[in-house]
Amino acid sequence: MSIENLMAGHAYWSKERKRLKDLGSVESSLCTRGSADRFFRPSSTCFDVAFQILKENDEYNEPNRFEDIWDDGCEDFEPCQHCKNVRTLKRERGRAGTRLGAIRSAITRIGSKLEYIDGMGVSK
Ligand SMILES: [Zn+2]
Repeated sequence: MSIENLMAGHAYWSKERKRLKDLGSVESSLCTRGSADRFFRPSSTCFDVAFQILKENDEYNEPNRFEDIWDDGCEDFEPCQHCKNVRTLKRERGRAGTRLGAIRSAITRIGSKLEYIDGMGVSK
């Protein structure tokens, strides 16, 4: 892969990761968690509630995983569509980060074969 292609890929996946992060923030702010929950825990999203349920179950030694509570729902809990979107976007952001990491490694491999001169440029 050419260095130009790697640089273009780096720019693309950097922007893509940022875009997914921003989208996630917007989705998170749109959480429709009931006003009753918000009254008791003003800043709570479905994630906060899910983690709270996890913590409470843990105290009763009930085996639980976040995925079980999130995917299957639990008692009165069902995550809202916005928080489900947050989770999907987070997964996509992780994939973008993996792509970015691979590109950075490739750039580092190429860079380590070059001689670094005074912070200004490279020569063979
Ligand atoms: Zn929510």
